[in-house]
Amino acid sequence: MDSGSDQSMENHSFVSEQHPKCTIPDILADHSSRYGSKQAIIIEASDPISHAGIWRQTERTLQQLNALGIGRGDRVAIVLPQGPELAVAFLTVASVATAAPLNPAFHQAEFEFYLKDLDTRALILMKDDQSVARSAAIACGIEIIELVTLDDGSFDLSGRPQEQLSPCGFSEPDDIALILHTSGTTSRPKMVPLTHLNLCASAHHISQTLELSDRDICLNIMPLFHIHGLVACVLASLAAGGTTICTRKFEASSFQSWLNSWKPTWYSAVPTMHQAILEELRSQNRTTIHSNLRLIRSSSAALPPTVMADLENAFRVPVIESYGMTEASHQMASNPLPPGARKPSCVGLPAGPEIAILNEIGDRLEHGKVGEIAIRGANVTKGYLGNPAANETAFHHGWLRTGDQGYFDPEGYLFISGRLKELINRGGEKISPREIDEVLLKHPKVKQAVAFAVPHPRLGEDIAAAVILHAQTECTEVELRNHVMNLMPAFKTPSRIIIVSDIPRGATGKIQRIGLADKLKDQLNAKYEESKTPTEKMIDDMFCEVLGCEPGGRQGNFFMLGGDSLRATQVIARLSKILLLELPIHFIFRLPTPALLGAEIDRIQSEREIDDLALILEGLNEPERAKLLD
Ligand code: AMP
Repeated sequence: MDSGSDQSMENHSFVSEQHPKCTIPDILADHSSRYGSKQAIIIEASDPISHAGIWRQTERTLQQLNALGIGRGDRVAIVLPQGPELAVAFLTVASVATAAPLNPAFHQAEFEFYLKDLDTRALILMKDDQSVARSAAIACGIEIIELVTLDDGSFDLSGRPQEQLSPCGFSEPDDIALILHTSGTTSRPKMVPLTHLNLCASAHHISQTLELSDRDICLNIMPLFHIHGLVACVLASLAAGGTTICTRKFEASSFQSWLNSWKPTWYSAVPTMHQAILEELRSQNRTTIHSNLRLIRSSSAALPPTVMADLENAFRVPVIESYGMTEASHQMASNPLPPGARKPSCVGLPAGPEIAILNEIGDRLEHGKVGEIAIRGANVTKGYLGNPAANETAFHHGWLRTGDQGYFDPEGYLFISGRLKELINRGGEKISPREIDEVLLKHPKVKQAVAFAVPHPRLGEDIAAAVILHAQTECTEVELRNHVMNLMPAFKTPSRIIIVSDIPRGATGKIQRIGLADKLKDQLNAKYEESKTPTEKMIDDMFCEVLGCEPGGRQGNFFMLGGDSLRATQVIARLSKILLLELPIHFIFRLPTPALLGAEIDRIQSEREIDDLALILEGLNEPERAKLLD
């Protein structure tokens, strides 16, 4: 054993010696002169943007933001739909100020929290955006900058003229390029600042691991408000002089046509997306796919070995599992490309930062011993913003504790064996269970609430919660779920909320979230009940078909049976088609069983029949009306 504290900090040789291009604007300017009109961003149904085009946009963004009083060090939140505008806004805003992309699915209260927490100077929205993000900015008194797209694929940023800044130029290596929030062990998300140096180091590591070059074309299907999409799919690809295809929305059914029309050489995704792609192939009885792909990358959640094997069999290319984290500007470890060995259920070799396994007191453990995975290096953040308590816990003599538990095998490959941090990893989306507890506790009937992870066949983990109600009160699961959904986006809503009289505790009397799923499994798994109505039966059958599972009966919970948001969309689309009704997607999140969904559909149908009848009656004269109603 040697002490972590004895290790000297890895020097920042990345900056000056090997990699002179250590800011995003450096990379963009260099590529503009080197690659000029070569495609940098490919867009569906529109002209591509060249490397020179991105640089022109960067110069224009500098001018336009400076004219609005915004420059280096100013934080600018971005809420844009998925697609090329968001990718280019990230690159160009980060080149001039600090970019903070936010998930467009947030509720107004969440936007207000993030905008205030960021102390943002302005919020960039599409010109026609009338979402709650705009209302939140108005409520917080934050300037709105509108993004207006132009015919040539570029955009203008327009806002209320402010006192003009004297031109302060592009960002420097130690300027904060990006701020993202991560879910913490408290209910308050932590702000992770990432400098240009951090991001460029990570992009360079990814590019080296995947041997990216200017001939590569990345198909981006990852959301661009998450570090995985921003750094692996956009920045690493462009930094290598390559091209990124910016899709608008991930749809497994479109995947094959994307491969055919754009001929990407690689893509990176979370395991649930890979699974959806495989299921789509199976539904078309296709076993082998010919494409230009030379590799497939997976990160952000554990990749089941069967999915890895199925992907390799279908596409005949290596599947590279990597280990990423926002605080590390994404990549920490990765399996190598052939001829290096890739190991299933393993996150590979250190691929960027130095990695150590530490015990509780921060001593470094030898290979084979299980402990906390810790990292340090040029791609790692220097510390959370405005959160000394989190920094105190997370940093130890220059090492950042990841909160993940793992070990190195004799060949130096890293395996993740557990998690020390209280976090639910729902198919790559990280959710703090305490954030859900707090929202549940806002319900007037809830006395105690504990959210916890339950195993899920596709997502890895899903969210459940146990709730104790105040005495003499009654409440349903649906009421509680609606309450959560009114305050949080659907992906943070527990699939099951069970009402209990007691929540099991650990030996010390403390509630332990880990292990709760097992202790409460009887209450979580609904007893099988036959369908009672034709609608319930139809929904039960549809769940089986979409999920490829055994019938769950009228109380079978779609998410507990293996459903996720992609499959929820499929069910809602099918139901809408059959019933000739435009059903909103949140229906299935609010009413996830055949009994609940069936009752609501029957209610809507009977209201519709009454409305139809009223319309028919309106068009009839009195004797005809009497005859019809007889
Ligand atoms: P994020 O900050 O959203 O990128 O989440 C980082 C966390 O995701 C890590 O600390 C891990 O818990 C988890 N994670 C990332 N990659 C993997 C992987 N390949 N296998 C298992 N967990 C992963």
